[in-house]
Amino acid sequence: MARGGLRCGQLKEAVFSSSEDRIRASQANVAVARPSIVFANRFSWLDQSLISRTAASVFSVLFPSNCRICSEPLLNISRLPVCPSCLDAIHPEAGKVCEVCSERVLSSFAFSDDNGLLRCPVCRRFERPFERSVAYGSYDGGLRELVHLLKFNGVRPAAGVLGRMLVEAIVSLESAFAQSGPEKVFVIPVPLFKDKRRGRGFNQSELIASAALKVYRSERLQLATDILYRIRETHSQIGLTSHQRRENMRGAFAVSRPAQVTGRAVLLVDDVYTTGTTVTECARVLRRSGAAQVWVATVARTQKHASKYLANMPPEAEADAMERIIAS
Ligand SMILES: [Zn+2]
Ligand SMILES: [Zn+2]
Repeated sequence: MARGGLRCGQLKEAVFSSSEDRIRASQANVAVARPSIVFANRFSWLDQSLISRTAASVFSVLFPSNCRICSEPLLNISRLPVCPSCLDAIHPEAGKVCEVCSERVLSSFAFSDDNGLLRCPVCRRFERPFERSVAYGSYDGGLRELVHLLKFNGVRPAAGVLGRMLVEAIVSLESAFAQSGPEKVFVIPVPLFKDKRRGRGFNQSELIASAALKVYRSERLQLATDILYRIRETHSQIGLTSHQRRENMRGAFAVSRPAQVTGRAVLLVDDVYTTGTTVTECARVLRRSGAAQVWVATVARTQKHASKYLANMPPEAEADAMERIIAS
């Protein structure tokens, strides 16, 4: 537990970091309540009212009362301020997806390559620097909210749930890992620029990867956070064309010691696959440094539902159109 000067958010997380801490939380509650009893005879009703209001506000900080997604009251104390209904409503991707990039495809676009992988129109035409990119679910609804709680609201316990979801995506790569050779697969979270990491206090991809490996417990996978780093901050990708996004990312990442990844298999982990530009650039840099294979696993995947717009399009125009849709 961090010492001294805890902010409210930190306090909440610190208090609920283990069952032992939950006991400490209840003790803290007693300690807060006690002054109103001990000093009852020495303070006026106004002071007592102030004390009880303070106690109530401290209590509400220690025990968040509403689900941070649906705002319904939380009935059980939990480190994660999200109700069971909201968690139960989050489902893995159920539709047919491209087995290279995980973009949704309609059955009319089903096309398997020589290795039997179903490919979307873009992956039919372009080779990616990664073997496959897998994702747990679509980046919308409760899953999107959960990612935001971690990333923008600093609710770190969300990383545990997101990590378990990531494991469900990683499982589909098990046979590929087995064929990658006897050496361990490096699990590399997409790094943040150091200033951004300092400002946020953590790298969400690292927390998710770390939580996933605690559940997955594979001898084959090894977390490696000191291999890939971000040289500079990148501008927001919103509104950029695919060409501009690639330019924005170019030169943003580097490998610290290329000899470490030469001939090795890598599993790149990110929270969200939006347009794929970030993981594509990371994979490119890792491959250029000698990585034998790069796979990608993300918790969520932005789905453009591109295929439904391409129903009546001749095959030669599909990839161009899809690129435009993805860039939009
Ligand atoms: Zn809820
Ligand atoms: Zn694809």
